[in-house]
Amino acid sequence: MKTREIMARLQAKYPGEVEYLQAVQEVLESVEDVYNMHPEFEKAKIVERMVEPDRVFSFRVTWTDDKGEVQTNTGYRVQFNSAIGPYKGGLRFHRAVTPSMLKFLGFEQTFKNALTTLPMGGAKGGSDFDPKGKSNAEIMRFCQAFMTELWQCIGPDQDIPAGDVGVGGREIGYLYGMYKKLAREYNTGVLTGKGSTWGGSILRPEATGFGALYFVNHVLRNAGEEIAGKTIAVSGFGNVAWGACIKARQMGAKVVAISGPDGVCHIPDGISDEMIDYMLVMRASNRDRVEDMADKFPEQAFFTAGKKSWSIPVDIALPCAFQNELSEEDAKELVANGCTCCCEVSNMGCQPGAIHYFQNNGVLFAPGKAVNAGGVATSGLEMTQNAQHLSWTAEEVDARLHQIMKSIHEQCVRYGKREDGTVDYVKGANIAGFMKVAQAMLEQGVI
Ligand code: GLU
Repeated sequence: MKTREIMARLQAKYPGEVEYLQAVQEVLESVEDVYNMHPEFEKAKIVERMVEPDRVFSFRVTWTDDKGEVQTNTGYRVQFNSAIGPYKGGLRFHRAVTPSMLKFLGFEQTFKNALTTLPMGGAKGGSDFDPKGKSNAEIMRFCQAFMTELWQCIGPDQDIPAGDVGVGGREIGYLYGMYKKLAREYNTGVLTGKGSTWGGSILRPEATGFGALYFVNHVLRNAGEEIAGKTIAVSGFGNVAWGACIKARQMGAKVVAISGPDGVCHIPDGISDEMIDYMLVMRASNRDRVEDMADKFPEQAFFTAGKKSWSIPVDIALPCAFQNELSEEDAKELVANGCTCCCEVSNMGCQPGAIHYFQNNGVLFAPGKAVNAGGVATSGLEMTQNAQHLSWTAEEVDARLHQIMKSIHEQCVRYGKREDGTVDYVKGANIAGFMKVAQAMLEQGVI
């Protein structure tokens, strides 16, 4: 594979699309050796086709705020790859959303979904709508306006959106309500992350965080360690961080830091059940402020403005908020403070310099597309339940989630084992996902 030539072409074609170029580069570097063993991939130009989204929808979303003022945002859906199943991936509502960000996330989603063992292609969507400071009624009106365009692009056998940053159960509810009205059919299979009384998987809200901790457990065990007794720093306080905190506690680990855009909360004795419940209140308030935790629990949580979770000494770092949220400087600080494991729970949570620093300093590192795949995997289980008109118990879903995370870990080990017996999880995850998608594309011809 001519990685350098392909990258040069993409850089010229998409200048400034830093995250997308970063994601593509990482995958190409990982798969180069395997690719070169398959001349049929080269002949069919699999890589050249795989790095371009199948199609991108962009639409205007106009809604009215509580003051009666008309607001306009832009909505997007990037349908990246449907080689192994219908397009699947979340919707992100965040002021920084651009088509380029969603392109990078859709690219990553394609490999992640392939790792889950379930038949799902890759997609991503969202809007530059900023939920911060918005009322519930404003959120509802925005979601409704967004769906008046999106509904034409999606369907249970076509493209199945879900939540992501800024989109949780509440937003999925409003989106589905409008979909149902426009399509005039009760077709729950069109979205995942629904409420458990109307077709949602009972474990979907927790699934990303739970799956991540199951994966962390496999990583540690494979290196001869145990999660019980470890200290953990989590970033963010949204849905993903919330699920991670619950499971970490159940596994006997102690979450001693959570963070927000305003700073970090240090929780020396570890986060309690009450505090975990309060994370949900904080998220629903749309204040986007972690200091609220310290205000509510002044004896247990200590807020420092402008600092990240990575400034707190811990054994394990779990970025759970946004891409590139952990820099090389942060990695150095974590390692100097004794951190021995970092698993990305957010998509591409670590900057490339941080990943190299971790890998060169013997820190166990695993990428988001493997660690956080439990979320979309549980969405895949929700799709199966919807198609069969049945509902599984939390125990049944959890057992499947366990099995899937175990399988993802095995795939990483299979393709990422180094000569010294340690595992390159970045390489392992990329090759495993790539091989599956590449093979399917090859078999389906030049389309
Ligand atoms: N947004 C989540 C992810 O990054 C979930 C996607 C889904 O459930 O479709 O994988």
